Amino acid sequence: MKVLVIGGGAREHALCRSLSQDPSVTELHCAPGNAGIAQVATVHPVDQLDGALVADLAAKLGADLVVVGPEAPLVAGVADAVRAAGIPVFGPSGAAAQLEGSKAFAKDVMAGAGVPTARSYVCTTPEEAAEALDAFGAPYVVKDDGLAAGKGVVVTSDRAAALAHAASCERVVIEEYLDGPEVSLFAITDGTTVLPLQPAQDFKRALDGDEGPNTGGMGAYSPLPWAPAGLVQEVLDTVLQPTVDELRRRGTGFSGLLYAGLALTSRGTRVIEFNARFGDPETQVVLARLRTPLAGVLLASATGTLDQLEPLRWDEGAAVTVVIASEGYPAAPRTGDPIEGLAEAEADGTAYVLHAGTKADEDGRVLSAGGRVLSVTATGADLAEARDRAYAAVARISLKGGQHRTDIALKAATA
Ligand code: AMP
Repeated sequence: MKVLVIGGGAREHALCRSLSQDPSVTELHCAPGNAGIAQVATVHPVDQLDGALVADLAAKLGADLVVVGPEAPLVAGVADAVRAAGIPVFGPSGAAAQLEGSKAFAKDVMAGAGVPTARSYVCTTPEEAAEALDAFGAPYVVKDDGLAAGKGVVVTSDRAAALAHAASCERVVIEEYLDGPEVSLFAITDGTTVLPLQPAQDFKRALDGDEGPNTGGMGAYSPLPWAPAGLVQEVLDTVLQPTVDELRRRGTGFSGLLYAGLALTSRGTRVIEFNARFGDPETQVVLARLRTPLAGVLLASATGTLDQLEPLRWDEGAAVTVVIASEGYPAAPRTGDPIEGLAEAEADGTAYVLHAGTKADEDGRVLSAGGRVLSVTATGADLAEARDRAYAAVARISLKGGQHRTDIALKAATA
């Protein structure tokens, strides 16, 4: 199988790593990729938001499968363009990706499907926003309606800050605050059959102890030893399957990766958000534990044959990933700094480094090229071992001004 992956972050590096280890994959390509992906795939400098260019590249390569990683190309209809060229593609249509692209659309689908989520109002004026904030009370949750790379959400007890965020967006969703721990549960679907993966937890805030601003995600781990037994089946029955069925009923069938961000509240499981693609950084730990070769699973989604797939096989152990971000992330990330210690971090074979925002210069040195720079990943018999291995590798890497959290998976590993 010849596979083309679209995107250039640590999620795509994780996808490419797994695909490169799948014996059925004979050729692996990625556009645009990054310095790390270039070590396992042939990279192509193609604009990932341009569906026609991506479809052309896929046709030229003779790709048997295209895997679209990030949300922006999905919302821009890149999967539609590839599908129209007759090439199997893993990822939803632009219309179905509105599940992530518009929070208001997602709320409407959830209402139609009877999926439990926070009560909410869609607001377009300061008056409406003020009314909604006061209806729910503090803490306030204000979400930009459009795509914001995980950074459009403000959760605050400061009413003025909540109002200011609402005013800075064209359209916002204001909703009730959900208490309780968060879980990310991914499912692969072909529009009818839904195959849940293993749950993971990510760390959205920039600083230890869940302080600081929301980010794209600073680390993740899987499995969740504290999660209630039966959680995956419950979410499949009450969230994932009803949502996929509702979208099919509406004529916007969803195939690809359905990501449910959940809060396990005192009043039951609630959906915080849906995403239309693999989550970053949870993908790094979920794929680290997946034993079933990946390409066949993604192809079954693309070709509508998931019901014929053998049950997925999983590593019994644990995986932890720690994100190294650049100085100033998320507000004003500094880029262009050399990264040292990448080989040393992987030297003992217990951890590996997935690249997020990196690029190679003319001398082959690896430079930072984005807010999140690396995703250092390790597996182990349990979370404590995976965590120790990941942090030992992080300690061998140097990036000027680089920052990482020191408490990824800490509570879960020591509970
Ligand atoms: P989202 O982009 O919708 O996933 O929101 C980003 C983060 O904001 C989530 O992971 C939560 O930590 C937080 N958040 C979003 N919605 C709520 C809510 N209704 N109640 C509490 N926290 C929330």
